Amino acid sequence: MNAETDLFGNPVAPLQPHKEPRPPVNDMEFVERVLSEATAAGFVLIGIREDVYRRVTGDVVEKVSVDVDACVHQLIETKWFEIGGSHQVRYDRYTGPARSVLVPRKTKQALYHWQSLHKPWSTESRTPARSCHASGCGVQVSSGDFCDRHATERLNRMQAERRRTAEVDRLANKINANLRAGDRNKRQNRRR
Ligand SMILES: [Zn+2]
Repeated sequence: MNAETDLFGNPVAPLQPHKEPRPPVNDMEFVERVLSEATAAGFVLIGIREDVYRRVTGDVVEKVSVDVDACVHQLIETKWFEIGGSHQVRYDRYTGPARSVLVPRKTKQALYHWQSLHKPWSTESRTPARSCHASGCGVQVSSGDFCDRHATERLNRMQAERRRTAEVDRLANKINANLRAGDRNKRQNRRR
């Protein structure tokens, strides 16, 4: 460890290798971005601490952020990435060996799958959103003709209407019964 050198063989003060577990990355959007970048430009690992660098152009690399570094290592540990062969890369004015971070085919497939899940509007199966039919509402509904509020209002209105109709019928029957009773009384009075 005393003989530790920097990326490209220059002696440096001893540094602790990444012994402590890196914190897990739970932000799926971030993981997805790292996966995308790995399939596009690609990452390499440099030095005893396996620091993560990204390929910029050709053999030129640059250091990634701490978050990306942790995420790449997590993806290697969980077998989403594999470590490939050694290549010469350039960093500033130095040249030295680095190992490629490979993206296996199954990882690429999973990535495409996630990307399609995140963009449900790109699939055929989704019902296009429509506006609530109530005038002046404009709330988008995915099923039915009315938003929840207006659907409830309509239902209440229909029930009230039905209750009113029943009440009218009841009153009408009562009035008719009274009229019939009145007629009977008149007929009886006439007979007297
Ligand atoms: Zn509405």
